[in-house]
Amino acid sequence: QSSTPEALRVVNLLHERNLLPPSPMPAPTPCLPQDLQKINCNPEVFRSTLTSIPQTQSLLNKAKMPLGLLLHPFKDLSQLPVVTSSTIVRCRSCRTYINPFVSFLDQRRWKCNLCYRVNDVPEEFMYNPVSRSYGEPHKRPEVQNATIEFIAPSEYMLRPPQPAVYLFILDVSHNAVETGYLSVFCQSLLDNINALPGDSRTKVGFITFDSTIHFYNLQEGLSQPQMLIVSDIEDIFLPTPDSLLVNLNECKELVQDLLKSLPNLFEKTMETQSALGSALQAAFKLLSPTGGRMSIFQTQLPNLGVGALQSREDPNQRASAKDIQHLSPATDFYKKLALDCSGQQVAVDLFLLSSQYCDLASLGCISRYSAGSVYYYPSYHHQHNPAQVECFQKDLKRYLTRKIGFEAVMRIRCTKGLSIHTFHGNFFVRSTDLLSLPNVNPDAGFAVQMSIEENLDDMQVVSFQAALLYTSSKGERRIRVHTLCLPVVNSLADIFAGADVQAITGLLACMAVDRSATASLSDARDAMTNAAIDSLTSYRQSVLTIQQPGLLAPACLRLFPLFILALLKQKAFRTGTSTRLDDRLFAMCQLKYQPLVYALLMIHPALYRVDDLTDEGALNVNDRTIPQPKVLQLSVEKLSREAAFLMDAGTVMYLWIGRNCHPNFLTQVLGVPNYAAVPDNLYLLPELDTAESQRTRAFIGWLRDQRPFFPSLHVIRDESQLKPTFMQNMIEDRTESALSYYEFLLHLQQQISK
Ligand SMILES: [Zn+2]
Repeated sequence: QSSTPEALRVVNLLHERNLLPPSPMPAPTPCLPQDLQKINCNPEVFRSTLTSIPQTQSLLNKAKMPLGLLLHPFKDLSQLPVVTSSTIVRCRSCRTYINPFVSFLDQRRWKCNLCYRVNDVPEEFMYNPVSRSYGEPHKRPEVQNATIEFIAPSEYMLRPPQPAVYLFILDVSHNAVETGYLSVFCQSLLDNINALPGDSRTKVGFITFDSTIHFYNLQEGLSQPQMLIVSDIEDIFLPTPDSLLVNLNECKELVQDLLKSLPNLFEKTMETQSALGSALQAAFKLLSPTGGRMSIFQTQLPNLGVGALQSREDPNQRASAKDIQHLSPATDFYKKLALDCSGQQVAVDLFLLSSQYCDLASLGCISRYSAGSVYYYPSYHHQHNPAQVECFQKDLKRYLTRKIGFEAVMRIRCTKGLSIHTFHGNFFVRSTDLLSLPNVNPDAGFAVQMSIEENLDDMQVVSFQAALLYTSSKGERRIRVHTLCLPVVNSLADIFAGADVQAITGLLACMAVDRSATASLSDARDAMTNAAIDSLTSYRQSVLTIQQPGLLAPACLRLFPLFILALLKQKAFRTGTSTRLDDRLFAMCQLKYQPLVYALLMIHPALYRVDDLTDEGALNVNDRTIPQPKVLQLSVEKLSREAAFLMDAGTVMYLWIGRNCHPNFLTQVLGVPNYAAVPDNLYLLPELDTAESQRTRAFIGWLRDQRPFFPSLHVIRDESQLKPTFMQNMIEDRTESALSYYEFLLHLQQQISK
């Protein structure tokens, strides 16, 4: 390269203490010619850890950075071109969809950018439906958009498109009734029943269970729902084959009746047992003929019949330094059932609302291998935990009303020479590059690791294409295709210059979750530290031309040690701090499942001072003024007793109030006369008619609007129970058992100069 790009500017991490940018970091832009870059895939959808792809595996090995892709393939998009043509143009050899990065040899032939085969342009493709002109195939929408959706013809379906089918399985044991979740669930479903994605064919069903399984006959013509109890849980059968899953439109009144009566049906129950395994088997039988979505609501450890689990958590081990036990499943019952479900196009979502250990390591498998998702509300209680109740309500609304795809598969193709070897996320891998997704939802993220099997000699660019084939809730078969194009480079300097530190951190987190289960937590932690040491060593030895003392990093990796330290202190991987096993497992689930942008907030929360918000630099969104305070480093040094700070940790937010916080903030935003009057458990900001209140609420509302789930808000005072949780996120500071950021840098430097 002629001059050093900004990404390679040398940064001495031990000297520069203010490296965190004051506003969210954009994804790096691949080094491509303008015309290609302009048309490239949105990084929120498709992103690579290395935006410049090494030419050979040995070059990649030398760089010591992981090569992989991060995807959010079914993300809600404000604009999506949809193509309806009778022929979908694909390479005859590798089946790649025609895309903006193919080349046209002439008007009639195009060269595949993944396998290089020359293909004919079909006659139909010569006509451009957008410009209504003929003879300009390169102007077709398929070659003008990196993200596009096709309506698939009949050869893309193995059977007629399935209807939307929703089955709800509800724990009604004594413990479940105590939490009071049933009334929130039922009310939420009543409120959103007409917004469930689907059409006139949509079906619903309900199962409740304790030590027995209860089905509900909702057949049209009945005057009220009929409960059918199966008590032989060892040999589950369906008491009536037809009327358990019913057409929502035809039986809406009965369904509504059931939802209104359910919360009271079990009020006085004495049942303490939970036969979840049998309930799931029953649900599987019910959904097998059509496929669909199974939603389980569980509040305790299943303790009866098949799939029963033991409490494996040793509370004394919670803080042990290394080798936390029981990170992998105790039984393969839930995995096997998930694979059966996957084979019948059934996905299972798990809502866990419990205050006791539930063995999420085992239970979580039911969602992981069926492309479902896990929701977790520890210590859920309708009275004692209002913040969780609000969170559950908001999550349910999103869950019930967001779009959904059924009977889906996703394939990720890459240019010849590149190969995917490991996948991360919730799915079942059917063949080497085909992911089976019984359901696909717009909030799921995926990651893959790649290797370079054949040298990419003579190639300027390579491409990656993800194709998601699914049945829409309206019964249409559709294919959403994303194509990403990246340059190939043959020097270590260029590889480093293209490193995407956020994507690398996200991928390393996924790899560390796997490592924790297959090896041990200490192995996973060592691997993350080594990733920082090895890449910076490689940079020092192979890229830096002038040697100088200090801990040196290229500007693009200046936050790498900080993010690794944050990962080591994240709930999933931390040691030395008491961490409940299920809390840890859930953090691991989230790191694998969340799209990158949300996973990053879980890893390194954003901290803002909010008692002095101004309109300066504010955004204007829908006629609202949204203040944009600076992002601060996660250190107690940044806090001030005279101020208030908001910490956004992705799924949760904390509003920390300093003891001597300016009275103006207390009265104008919190609506209290003084610090002592700030209530415990405050989770809602009052809607005060003051400029300060409006600014604060506008900012928090704007942060929430940008994600599909609802982060709860906790106001933290010195006396608050949650104060330690807030303080644990101050990852730059030293704790009893963990290094400060500065100590961590010294440790890295020591290892690198060895
Ligand atoms: Zn091809």
